[in-house]
Order: sequence, then C-alpha cells, then structure tokens
Amino acid sequence: MTFKDLKLSDKVLAAIDAAGYTIPTPIQAQAIPFALEGRDVVGIAQTGTGKTASFVLPLLNMLEQGRARARMPRSLILEPTRELAAQVAEAFETLGSQHKLTVALLIGGVSFDDQEKKLERGADILIATPGRLLDHFGRGKLLMNAVDYLVIDEADRMLDMGFIPDIERICKLLPPSRQTLFFSATMPPEIQKLTDQFLKNPEQVRVSAPATAAKNITQKLKFSPADSKTKRHVLRELMRSEVATIQNAIIFCNRKRDVAVLHKSLVKHGFNAGALHGDLDQRQRMATLEAFRKGEITYLAASDVAARGLDIPEVSHVFNFDVPISPEDYVHRIGRTGRAGRDGYAAMIVTPKEMKGVRAIENLCKAKIEWIDGEPSTENLAATDFSERRERSRRGERGGAGRGRSKEAVVAAKPRETAEVRPIRQETPSADDARPMRAASTSTAERPARNRRNGDGSSVSRYHRELLPPATSAPVVGLGDHVPAFLMRPVRVAS
Ligand code: AMP
Repeated sequence: MTFKDLKLSDKVLAAIDAAGYTIPTPIQAQAIPFALEGRDVVGIAQTGTGKTASFVLPLLNMLEQGRARARMPRSLILEPTRELAAQVAEAFETLGSQHKLTVALLIGGVSFDDQEKKLERGADILIATPGRLLDHFGRGKLLMNAVDYLVIDEADRMLDMGFIPDIERICKLLPPSRQTLFFSATMPPEIQKLTDQFLKNPEQVRVSAPATAAKNITQKLKFSPADSKTKRHVLRELMRSEVATIQNAIIFCNRKRDVAVLHKSLVKHGFNAGALHGDLDQRQRMATLEAFRKGEITYLAASDVAARGLDIPEVSHVFNFDVPISPEDYVHRIGRTGRAGRDGYAAMIVTPKEMKGVRAIENLCKAKIEWIDGEPSTENLAATDFSERRERSRRGERGGAGRGRSKEAVVAAKPRETAEVRPIRQETPSADDARPMRAASTSTAERPARNRRNGDGSSVSRYHRELLPPATSAPVVGLGDHVPAFLMRPVRVAS
C-alpha cells in the first residue's frame, strides 16, 4: 500500500514526500481511511508506530477547506504532556509544509499572553494539555463550538496522570457533531468507558497487542553482580562493546536521583551525555531534548519521563540501567528504539535482586530474552547473593524483605543505591564514582552501621574502627590479652 492509495490530497502527498516517508505504517494504513470517511476511530497503538501522522495527515486533509475565526479553533488535539504537545506541533510543521494552516500550542509553563494572542488570531489546529486548555476557557479566551475534529492522544497516559475528569469536561464543551480520533497504547476499563461515553460507533484499529515489544528490536540481558558502581562499570563495558553501531542511546534509570549520579559518572568517563528527569524545569528538559535530537548529545540518562511518548527519531540503542518496576514500562522504554520499522537494540543490566523483574517482563512479552555471556547460573546467583548478604550484615544492614514490605515489592523495587555492595569484580574507584558513593554513605540505610555499639558498650564509628589495628587471625583463647585488672590482682588464699 502507498500513501496515494489512502486518498490523501495532493498537498498532503507532497508534504509526505518531502518528509521522506515512502510507505504508510500499519496504524496509518488502517486509521487514515476511516478518518477521511468522517468516522470516529479508536487506535490502539504505541508510540513509535507512526501514530502521530495517522491523525495529523487526515486532519491536514480535512482542514484544507474553510478558515478559522478568532478564538474559535477548528480542531483540538489533547496531549498529556507539554513535550508531547510540542512534538505534535512539530509534526504539523513538517507535514503541514504545503498548507497555510495556523497552529496554536497551549501548554503550561509558558506565558498566557502569547497564547491568547494566537487564539485571538484564529487557530485551525489547537494543540493543548487539558489543564491549560481549561484555564484559557475559564478566562473566556476560547470558544469550543467550532471544533469539528477532536484528537485524544495517549489516553492511557492521561489516565495515569489523573486527567480523565478534565477530558470529560472538555468533551462536554465540544459540539456533539464533531469527529473524534482516540489513541491509547492500552485499553484499561476506564479508557473503554471514556470511548463508550464520548465516541460515536467508533472503528477500532489495533496495530499490535498491548504491551508487546516490536520484533525488530534485539533485546539482551547483562548480569551485574552488584548495584551502583558495579552497574555503572558494566554499563560502560556494554556501551563500549556497542560503540561501532551506537548513533545515540537512552539509558533508563528507575529513579531521578540515579539519573543524576549516572549522568555525572558518564561525563567523567568521557561520554557525551545529558540527563532528563522530572525534577528538571521545562526549559532545561526542552534544551536537553533538542540537543539530543540534533546529535549534540549522544547519550541521554533518563527516568521514565522519557519512556512514553517522546518522539526522538532514530534512537539506535536503549540501555536499561535498572530493571523497571513495572514490566509495562520495559515495553515503553525499549519502544524508543526500533521505531517506524528501523532496527533497534535494547540491553538491560540485571543484578541478582532484579531477576524476578526479568521474569515478569518475559511473562508479559511471552518471550525469553537472551543473556550476553550466558544466563547467570544458580550457583553464581546464590554466591553473589550470599556475598551481598554477608556484606550487608558486616555493615549492620538488615537483610530480608524489610519492614512491612512484601517480598515481591522488595524484589520489584529498585535496589537501593545506599545498599552499595562490594562487587565481586572490583573496579578501580574513580573520582566520580567516589563522590556519589560518599553521598550515599551518609544515607539513613547506613547510619545504624556507623555508630554501632561495640562489645564493650562504647560507640565506635565505622571510620574509627577502621583506624584500629587489624585483628589477628589466631583464635582467641579465654579472655585473650584483655584480662580485666581485678582478675590479675593477687589474692590471699586461706590456709
Ligand atoms: P510516532 O509513533 O508518531 O511517534 O512516530 C515515530 C517516528 O516515525 C517519527 O519519527 C515519525 O517521523 C516516523 N514516521 C511516521 N510515519 C512514518 C512513515 N510512514 N515512514 C517513515 N517514518 C515514519
């Protein structure tokens, strides 16, 4: 099938040509004909499948006739995040190059004044996050009764972010005669309810079963005997082994704090790296993403903020520094590579504690993932686990599942950086690794070990203990050298 077969206008076809797209992706081939017929569509598709163009192209086609009036947009696209909204605006810039349609972007973190001016001039296409859209509506700067086309994108993400009540409010403000194109990677009951309520006899198109990874992604697992520093070492080895084919890569961590530590470490080791996580402000996030897109940054250490929806074309590699807490996140993370039919590569580093997380992923994807250097043997895992527990107990940390947490929750949770474990294969500590480790050593997890009460009741810190002379390996007989003085005093024995 070609784009011509989809009965798109000449202008749209010219823009597709200029964008370099040759054949429609499956979601485009299925959704575009229904959209052009004026039908409501539910598209079940992940990002990376060409989903954005599957609504941008028919919208361009349908908006060719007519003009926008002040404060009365003709179409509305709802996106869960500012980044996604900005990306859709970019897609209109690329694919709408042959059209003279006006696009307004209403996202948080940007001044209301400029957005109001755009609305005042009239917008053919309004791309918005739900909160900011309702703010403008509340200020009386926006009328919704000319919206003929509504797109709800990443609906399951909207659900995760608590936007469903806002979406319901917005749908009720729009003319009932509008056409709705609705996209979601998964269809949980809340999303199904939303489509039942607000779509009219929709056509359902589905490009792959929810939560399945694309087949063109090579997936690998790499064993790391311990957390943090050892993991960073394993990651560098992995990255170096792939250096010939890496164009750019995203490295996912479970926690924002780890993203920052890993980013510092990579930079110190000479990798051209940036960081992206939810604690950075909007300006920093956009600047980092832009630099990554342009190739000024090769490696992006990121939290799951980058896993869903961000359109970063041609990511050649994904590295999972941590096994994600939820197996669905794995699918989203590796979906950043192998997009639009290209080949992708995704490798995940796994510590003994994260083995259960791997099994959960394999169960979800119904496939075994291959290990680099072979699957760790049970003995290897047990030995590592034993040395890990011994190390923890040496430091006075508690083993086991921990207070009030189920065993599963502990396995699923990301291993704590604070519970740094001496690696079996010790690397030479480098300056960068030393810093986060020192920071970690002040954490609550290690505090009990530092001021442990000693056998004589005194409190000796770990550092002071290290200054004491080393213990001899000879077994101590009786009280050893430390015989209390009163026992040494001569005593008078009655005759
Ligand atoms: P999306 O799923 O919308 O995030 O799209 C993923 C990537 O695929 C984006 O970089 C698009 O520019 C690209 N893309 C979309 N449709 C096509 C197509 N028909 N051929 C080649 N690339 C495409």
